[in-house]
Amino acid sequence: MKQNLNLLKNIRTVEPYVPGEQPQTKVIKLNTNENPYPPAPGVERALQEIDADRLRLYPDPVAKILVKALAQDHGVREDQIFVGVGSDDVLSMCFLTFFNSKKPILFPDITYSFYKVWAELYRIPYECPKLQDDFHMTKEDYYKENGGIIFPNPNAPTAIYEELDFVEDIIKHNPDVVVIVDEAYIDFAGKSAETLIEKYDNLIVVQTFSKSRSMAGMRIGYAISNPVLIQYLNDVKYSFNSYTMNQASLVCGVEAVKDRAYFEKITARIVETREWAKVELKNLGFEITDSKANFIFAMHPEYDAGELFEAMKENHIYVRHWNSERIAQYLRITIGTKEEMKVLFSFLNGYLKR
Ligand SMILES: *Cc1c(COP(=O)(O)O)cnc(C)c1O
Repeated sequence: MKQNLNLLKNIRTVEPYVPGEQPQTKVIKLNTNENPYPPAPGVERALQEIDADRLRLYPDPVAKILVKALAQDHGVREDQIFVGVGSDDVLSMCFLTFFNSKKPILFPDITYSFYKVWAELYRIPYECPKLQDDFHMTKEDYYKENGGIIFPNPNAPTAIYEELDFVEDIIKHNPDVVVIVDEAYIDFAGKSAETLIEKYDNLIVVQTFSKSRSMAGMRIGYAISNPVLIQYLNDVKYSFNSYTMNQASLVCGVEAVKDRAYFEKITARIVETREWAKVELKNLGFEITDSKANFIFAMHPEYDAGELFEAMKENHIYVRHWNSERIAQYLRITIGTKEEMKVLFSFLNGYLKR
């Protein structure tokens, strides 16, 4: 059929985000930063106890039980929590709600690639200050006039964590715009910016159940802020879709939050595996950033990352590689179980010695 260009003019066209592959065969899957351990045991019990008849009814639009559990866990009030279908949903709602200036929003040139997609989708102007050569942010880049700021801490895919005083300086220098700190990986790192919420009225902290809570398939994310900003987020959400959180995600989410001991145990195990994997990779000649996340950002000075990526894939080991400027020689490797990492290292040992 012939393209009608007038028709096209009225269509919201966008270049979509490209998620990592989800192969349907059994592979060593180190490509999308999922948790290698199962969710808390209470989650499985809750799933078995779900009454199918309950599904006739709409879920609670205010997601009360989950909001309450999260508020308790974080020591904040219930009106300081906003929940969504993964943090992607929460972040997208934040872009729509808070980034409405004619001035560009700011986020790093190397970061979570969804930010650019949402900015394009919602027609928000943006600028991307360059990370330094060592992939650290330069905080002064974020002191200029802007329409809002977002960055992950730790950053992805670099795995670098900026200390809390660094984050605070950026928030402090931007009182007139909303600053969103995307803490998808904070549980593997250091202090969360949530401790700054009482002090700054322009701060939103976003976290997720997908990484440290082992529940990427359930889709739960949340924002913590002051009641005023949370109210604005809810107003937009209820203008979009009242029932974002399904019944299963509500009950399973509560169970995951309740089991702090299990959460701490598996998080510590991943951190331990990460620190061991860093040493192994260095011994194999890789150069890596000082990861504080559940993945490692690595490059080998003597081997092309694209070729290495393909060779791993042929051997059923999936990692992530981007053909983009500045990071084309890097691989992002999710921390799996120690057994999975051993398979990776044994492959690399053979491959690099050829
Ligand atoms: C994984 C990730 C998210 C989104 O995770 P959800 O599964 O949608 O909660 C958000 N930001 C960053 C930086 C991530 O890596």
